[in-house]
Amino acid sequence: MDANIAPERIKHLNQKPAYDNGTYVLYWMQQSQRSYWNHALEYAIAKANELDCGVLVGFGLMDDYPEANARHYTFLLEGLQQAQEGLEDRKCKFVLRFGHPAEVALELGQSAKCIVCDRGYLRHQRAWRDRVAEEADCQVVQVECDAVVPVEEASDKQEYAARTIRKKLMGQYEGFLEKPDGGTLQKDSRFLQPTGQDIEDIPAMVKRMDIDHSVAPVSEHFQGGEQRAAAVFERFLQQHFSDYSAHRNQPQTDDVSYMSMYLHFGHIAPAHLLQWVRQAKPKDDNREDFVEELLVRRELGINFCYYTEDYDRFDTLPGWAQETLAEHSKDERDPAYTLEELEHAQTHDPYWNAAMLEMKHTGYMHNYMRMYWGKQILAWSPDPKTAYDRTLHLNNKYFLDGRDCNSFANVSWVFGQHDRGWTERPIFGKVRIMKQSGLKRKMKPDQYVEKVARLTGIDATEI
Ligand SMILES: Cc1cc2nc3c(=O)[nH]c(=O)nc-3n(C[C@H](O)[C@H](O)[C@H](O)COP(=O)(O)OP(=O)(O)OC[C@H]3O[C@@H](n4cnc5c(N)ncnc54)[C@H](O)[C@@H]3O)c2cc1C
Repeated sequence: MDANIAPERIKHLNQKPAYDNGTYVLYWMQQSQRSYWNHALEYAIAKANELDCGVLVGFGLMDDYPEANARHYTFLLEGLQQAQEGLEDRKCKFVLRFGHPAEVALELGQSAKCIVCDRGYLRHQRAWRDRVAEEADCQVVQVECDAVVPVEEASDKQEYAARTIRKKLMGQYEGFLEKPDGGTLQKDSRFLQPTGQDIEDIPAMVKRMDIDHSVAPVSEHFQGGEQRAAAVFERFLQQHFSDYSAHRNQPQTDDVSYMSMYLHFGHIAPAHLLQWVRQAKPKDDNREDFVEELLVRRELGINFCYYTEDYDRFDTLPGWAQETLAEHSKDERDPAYTLEELEHAQTHDPYWNAAMLEMKHTGYMHNYMRMYWGKQILAWSPDPKTAYDRTLHLNNKYFLDGRDCNSFANVSWVFGQHDRGWTERPIFGKVRIMKQSGLKRKMKPDQYVEKVARLTGIDATEI
């Protein structure tokens, strides 16, 4: 069987054989929510052709996914709607069922010859796959699609910083840019028996779900889906890429890819993006910086969550950071804000307020403002642990790309993870500080406030 997939991406999660009496190969789609450049799907198609059967793609949608709300579910369903169309074009049947993802996989897996799944790195995502591998009666094969370099190939341990993983990733990533290809599915599977939920009226569907409805969808700013992801990226390449390096720290501009939310939901493959850039753009600073972000920084986040059991806890920060923050935990905070004041963007700092409003109203924020935003929460909270909890909470509540490996790694970065010690200061100790004066020196924060005012419809003078 050849689907042009690097063997390092493929892992048998149990030792059970394929089940002879099954009627299809089940691709249990959970992380990689797309119908192309999806290694797990291509593997499933190639396997089905070999076993002379069809492919059923199943997705389990639960109401109580950790920290998810109406904003996240809307984007997810917009993506699944496009994935379904793409899968039907490829003659696969797509079934969405409400329920715990592992239980939906096991239910649909009862009639499967073999179950193929994609890979997630967070605790619960790993636990679901372990459960399916243990309880299913047939073979379960995991195919890693959403990291360029498979996580264990990149490194066998938790890395200290970008500088320690960079060489490992850069040295091998070109060998993992293969476009997977399972061929044409021989058995038209669109009429397979299992049925699921129609994805038609997404707002009505979300409304019916027993979820947190307090955070509104942001479809007027960002809509989910594989075709939309490709269109947004195409626009980035044509209109913004040439300024990517120059504007990395210029949040008043729009010269970024806006890919993080699509990557989070698996609407686009990171290897596809890298391959696309390599084919479309010459080797220059823009290309190198983009590879640095998408490959090195993003996969450092994956490495962090994969090798750190408690990636979402303050007490897994490096010892030096915990020590220095503890030494300064009683330093006076002036000003100090409550979580409610922060969440309502009611601080004395218009630039910070603008960042908070951008995230609340659009679900996105430029990387440079994310750094500033997180650092001020540390400065204005009663103690470092409370600051960490608040930052993670707001990050995961409002960002479309929240609840990602990158969320946990980057919130931890605010508190010293993947960084080194700097000159000692009040509150921060040796943890890196960012000040408003630096913001004014390095970018154009007033223009950023105006940009947020345009995006949110809030008067700039009110921010
Ligand atoms: C406090 C804080 C919180 C953050 N929370 C999240 C989060 O919840 N989810 C999330 O995906 N990213 C998070 N980031 C990382 C980064 O800010 C976003 O990935 C990036 O801004 C997304 O915008 P973009 O896709 O337009 O980025 P681009 O500049 O176009 O970069 C392309 C891709 O590279 C990756 N990337 C870029 N910058 C970083 C970075 N600093 N670290 C890791 N990967 C990066 C992303 O996958 C991004 O989509 C956070 C950063 C900070 C400082």
